[in-house]
Amino acid sequence: MDEPTVDAAAARDAARLLVEAKRFADAQALLRDAANQARSAQDWSGLYVLLEALGALLRNQEQRVEAVSVFLDALWACRQAQGSADQLGRLEATLAFTLVNLGAADQAAEHAAAGLALSESMTRLDERVRTLNAVALTNTRLGHFQSARRLYAQIVREAKGAAGQAQWERGGALINLGVCFNDEALTLDAADPRRAQLLRRSIRCAKAALRTSLRPGHALAASLNCADSLLLLGSADEASDLLAALEPELQASRDTELRGFATGLRARVSLQRGEHDAAARLFAAAIELFESVASYDEVPGLLEDLSKAEEARSDLCCALKAERRASAMRRARARALSQTRMRVVEARYELELARRTAEAERTLEARIDQQRAQLTAQADAMSLAAHTDPLTGLGNRRMLEGISNLLKAPSETPFCVALIDVDHFKRVNDNFSHMVGDQVLRQIADIVRENCRPTDVAARYGGEEFALVLSGMVRDVGARVCERLRDRIEQFDWATIRTGLAVTVSIGLTADVCPADLKEALARADSCLYAAKNGGRNQVRLDG
Ligand code: GH3
Ligand code: MG
Ligand code: MG
Repeated sequence: MDEPTVDAAAARDAARLLVEAKRFADAQALLRDAANQARSAQDWSGLYVLLEALGALLRNQEQRVEAVSVFLDALWACRQAQGSADQLGRLEATLAFTLVNLGAADQAAEHAAAGLALSESMTRLDERVRTLNAVALTNTRLGHFQSARRLYAQIVREAKGAAGQAQWERGGALINLGVCFNDEALTLDAADPRRAQLLRRSIRCAKAALRTSLRPGHALAASLNCADSLLLLGSADEASDLLAALEPELQASRDTELRGFATGLRARVSLQRGEHDAAARLFAAAIELFESVASYDEVPGLLEDLSKAEEARSDLCCALKAERRASAMRRARARALSQTRMRVVEARYELELARRTAEAERTLEARIDQQRAQLTAQADAMSLAAHTDPLTGLGNRRMLEGISNLLKAPSETPFCVALIDVDHFKRVNDNFSHMVGDQVLRQIADIVRENCRPTDVAARYGGEEFALVLSGMVRDVGARVCERLRDRIEQFDWATIRTGLAVTVSIGLTADVCPADLKEALARADSCLYAAKNGGRNQVRLDG
């Protein structure tokens, strides 16, 4: 793919600065503007870069449906720009992960499969493992635990010993693998022996992740996952110790969701220990933390736990209230989910429609261009026809008038103008037929053409008269050229046209036409021609 245009890259960088300054609306407007410009300039690589940045911005702003629509558009632009597998794969995986978080499972699976297929031809390790991570996360959310585990294992293997981005992706894969074991364990019955096995593997993964180099903030997430698994295994004390050790780091963390998650874990520790008052208080605090950042995914589960704690405290009224809120939230979520799915389908449809309209417009434009070219060609042809004599193919009188401007231009070199008239041409017609007369005229035109330079202009001036403009030619040379022409015509074997046919011409020549008035020159040449006719025909006469 071509490099993005300077404008697109500059707009993307400017938007980044705006995001850093938390001016999200301005960043969005800038990217949309630049994308519109790139689209009308059909700069597909620029459009792709801008749309990918816009999609990421929208997703981070929780405008996920809009993000999906923009990512789909980016994918299209990337294909138009013949983007690399690295670029296409990354986009497919990003789309898959965004879609699965929206609950659009089928479409998420489709894009995850596309990303996975592309990952095989990806050349950059960091892009490849990043794509595999996003596909595996999508698969985990879809409940395809086995394939997710295989992919995480592949990342851990492939990025072993890598540095930078790929190294971070490897650490991320280990954490995600732990989450995957945890999620799978939660699908099993508490009595199922595989459940404990999976939870122990989850803990091992979190610990392995903590031994590697992780992105800032990820170590805390890995430790919390570990605490979660310990709790699920029934090791409340171990989980509690771990959480206590993490407390200073948690206090310092600006990640409210992470703090909400930790508070929820502490609440579950209290619940397991039978400290119901503390549990109820902590669950309520965790809910508050999540709600303060408009993150609702964890809330229904926490409300149900809160209800259990309240029930254990014998506050049945509060227990019922929490239970009702949880089920109301779950119902609202289910409704929102189906609406979201519909909106994703709509967004896809609208995008397809817009794309088709744009394509139709482009086809129309191309057709208009084609018609314009045809018209120009026709106009050229018409102009040529209007200036050409159909019988001989020479220029006609109109063409001659057209070049008179040329002759008027100041010039150092002189011109000669000659008029050639067929002698007794009427007799040719009368004695041999009009058709033979036409053949004679064509033959004379051929002889004139053969004896001219490309810069000379020959035209059929009238019925059996020809005009010749010899540029850059002095009098003597002009006279010689005309004499040669007269001779060639006389010497031509006219019997090849009809036995007994003989043709001669008379020529009137005027020289030193510089700067010239063509009309005047032709009139002078005509006088000379008249003199040639009177002088007995078949001869050249010069003026002066
Ligand atoms: P002169 O030597 O004095 O020029 O005699 P002429 O017969 O050539 O001159 P005149 O002007 O009397 O006759 C010109 C003839 O040319 C008359 C006309 O029928 C014929 N003519 C004009 N255009 C064409 C044409 O396109 N084809 C044919 N075959 N004849 C044409
Ligand atoms: Mg004549
Ligand atoms: Mg004549």
